[in-house]
Amino acid sequence: MERAYNFNAGPSALPLEVLKRAQEELVNFKQTGMSVMELSHRSKEYEGVHQQAQSLLRELLQIPSDYEVLFLQGGASLQFAQIPMNLLKEGEIGNYVLTGSWSEKALKEAKLIGETFIGASTKESGYTSIPNVEQISINKNDAYLHITSNNTIFGTQWHKFPQLENTSLIADMSSDILCRSIEVENFSMIYAGAQKNLGPSGVTVVIVKKELLENSRQDIPSILRYTTHADANSLYNTPPTFAIYMLSKVLEWVKEQGGLAAIENRNVEKAKLIYDVIDESSGFYRGHAEKDSRSLMNITFNLPNEELNKKFLAEAKAAGFVGLNGHRSVGGCRASTYNSVPVEACEALRQFMITFKNNQ
Ligand SMILES: *Cc1c(COP(=O)(O)O)cnc(C)c1O
Repeated sequence: MERAYNFNAGPSALPLEVLKRAQEELVNFKQTGMSVMELSHRSKEYEGVHQQAQSLLRELLQIPSDYEVLFLQGGASLQFAQIPMNLLKEGEIGNYVLTGSWSEKALKEAKLIGETFIGASTKESGYTSIPNVEQISINKNDAYLHITSNNTIFGTQWHKFPQLENTSLIADMSSDILCRSIEVENFSMIYAGAQKNLGPSGVTVVIVKKELLENSRQDIPSILRYTTHADANSLYNTPPTFAIYMLSKVLEWVKEQGGLAAIENRNVEKAKLIYDVIDESSGFYRGHAEKDSRSLMNITFNLPNEELNKKFLAEAKAAGFVGLNGHRSVGGCRASTYNSVPVEACEALRQFMITFKNNQ
C-alpha cells in the first residue's frame, strides 16, 4: 500500500525515512537485543538517545547555553497550567495575547492560579489575524507575556515577534516549532507538544532560560516544578523513552534536509502551492486568515457554502487525502502542511483543488 496524503493536524505525518529507520531498529536497538522501549531509562544506551535528542535540538535551533532543554509529559495542555503554577506569583500578572482557541485555553488555566490580563486579542474579528506587535499592552508587573506562535485551528501565524525589554516572552510553538529559524534569545520560554512538527505524541519539549527558573515557585508538587526536571536532566521519573527516541530521529532528519533554512524554504514552497490556488480561484476557495497572518503550517479555507464544503471533503477523502476537515469547533477545511508532509502531497492537493473547482 502507498503512503496516504496525510494532512492531519496532529498527531500528523512523520517522515517515511524516519519510520523505516525506527522499523529497522525496532526489535534490536544497537545490538542490545531489545527495542528502545524495553531499555532502562537509566541505561547507557538510553542516555545516548536522550542526549542526542537534546543536542540536535540545541544545534538546529541554536539554543544558547543559558537555556534548559526539558522533555516533559502531559502535552502542551499541561504547560498551560504549569507555566502559571511555576511563574505567576502574588502581585504579578500573567499577560496573554489571544489569537485562537489554544491561547484561550492557556489563559483559562492561568486564571485559576493568579491574576491575568489580555494584552491583545483578535477574537472580535474571528481570529483571522495576529495583532500588531506594537499594540500589545504590557504592564510593569507582568510575570510574562504568553503568545501562541501558530494558531493550529484558525491557520494564522506570527511573522514578527514582540521585542520585550523587561518582560519574559513565552511562546506555545506546538504547531510550528522547527518550521523556520527563530531567535531563541528573544524568548524566555518556548514549549511544544511533539505530535505536530517534532515526532509522535507523548513528549513535550520545553526550552527555558535558566534565569526564569531562578525565581520560580517551589511550593508546588515536585513533578510540576520545572526546577525538578531541570536538575534531573528530565530523568526525575521515567520519561516517554520511545517518543524521545522518535524525536531524535526526526531531528536527525531535519538536519539531513539542510536544517531550518532549507526546511523553511520547502515549507514556503509547499504552502504557496495551496495558497496560490485559493488566491487564483476568484473567491471559490476562501482563506480564513488575512494574508499577512497566514500560517505556513495550517492552511484554513472554506468553499462558497456548506454543501460544497461537504462535497469537497467527501471527494477529497475518496481521492486519498486524509485530515482535510477543519477543527470540529470551526468547520470548513484545513490542510496541515507540517515539515514531514512532502511537496508531492501538496502538489497533489493543489491539482485536486483545481480539478474540483473546474468540475462545479
Ligand atoms: C495541539 C496544540 C496544543 C495541545 O497540545 P496537547 O499536546 O494535545 O496538549 C496546544 N497548543 C497548540 C498551538 C496546539 O497546536
